[in-house]
Amino acid sequence: MIPPGGTIGILGGGQLGRMTALAAARLGYRCHVFCPERESPAKLVTCFATTADYTDKAALADFARQVDVITFEFENVPAETAEHLAAFKPVRPGPAALRIAQDRLKEKEYVGAASIATAPYAAVTNLTELEASLQRIGRPALLKTVRLGYDGKGQVTIGAGADLATAWRSLGTELAILEGFVDFACEISVIVARGAGGACAIYPAVENRHVNGILDTTIVPAPIAPEAAARAVAIARRLAEGLDIAGLLAVEMFLTKRGELLVNELAPRPHNSGHWTIDACHTSQFEQLVRAICGLPLGSAERHSDAVMKNLIGAEVANWRAILDDPLRKLHLYGKTEILPGRKMGHVTTLIPRR
Ligand code: AMP
Repeated sequence: MIPPGGTIGILGGGQLGRMTALAAARLGYRCHVFCPERESPAKLVTCFATTADYTDKAALADFARQVDVITFEFENVPAETAEHLAAFKPVRPGPAALRIAQDRLKEKEYVGAASIATAPYAAVTNLTELEASLQRIGRPALLKTVRLGYDGKGQVTIGAGADLATAWRSLGTELAILEGFVDFACEISVIVARGAGGACAIYPAVENRHVNGILDTTIVPAPIAPEAAARAVAIARRLAEGLDIAGLLAVEMFLTKRGELLVNELAPRPHNSGHWTIDACHTSQFEQLVRAICGLPLGSAERHSDAVMKNLIGAEVANWRAILDDPLRKLHLYGKTEILPGRKMGHVTTLIPRR
């Protein structure tokens, strides 16, 4: 157990780290952010920071000496970095969860081994394999890089007339995953907070709507049959238990038109679809992460309001003033100075009193 007053090391300097650091501060913890960017949303709210590459062993060792526990706020931190750090201080969730979540093939294998459904898929290393796998999976399909894809980047749709050689070249990778295109009714996610002792606090299934592959809006709770929502929660719990998560696991799923749930992605960290928990729940996902990695009891994941969370992407951030005119909307800005298309600049949560 790491009591308040201790220091939490966070790998990654984005908004997820920023909101984790804010939650940690409320419980009396300090945070030390490690990331390669000199200026970052998380560094703006913490007093300890290291600016170095994730492969800089000397900087990592120095960082590890200054913290009591280490977590990560995005899954593209190299797993080797987490493994290296684990020799010095506890890394929670552990490097094993990170290794699975940053590799789309390992992720699908893990989910399949737990007897949980995914879209049909195949590993592809060249054009011939792509042609053969497409015969089996059928069009339309999605070809994705196995690693380092996010927000719809690193993927290409293979529709009826698509030229396979062009599609393969466009990814510029030696290992890809071909996935059958899921004609889903909606996309949902469930976030599980799991304490070091195995106790879980689970947020309800929420619906996620994407625009251009980027999460745009989260609707709480997901307007789906209670039976499907309960199944989604059970799937997420099983996956978190299987990975022995101490921290958070977000599980993204497709709900098909036939009512089937297919797991799309796992994220062993705070998730964009859980930002609403800051304003609508007794305990936010960020506070749960702090509690879990420090060995404190989890808080209640109960919500006092329903909610709609809208990401402020790129130029949408200019709406901040109008948003503040509605007293039931809660504005969160990440302190990013440069506005770029597709960049997550902030979010706004609209609270809806529960009936
Ligand atoms: P991902 O990076 O895998 O989360 O993909 C980003 C978005 O692309 C998802 O949220 C879906 O909207 C869409 N997508 C990804 N994989 C599939 C799939 N197999 N079938 C249909 N849509 C998909």
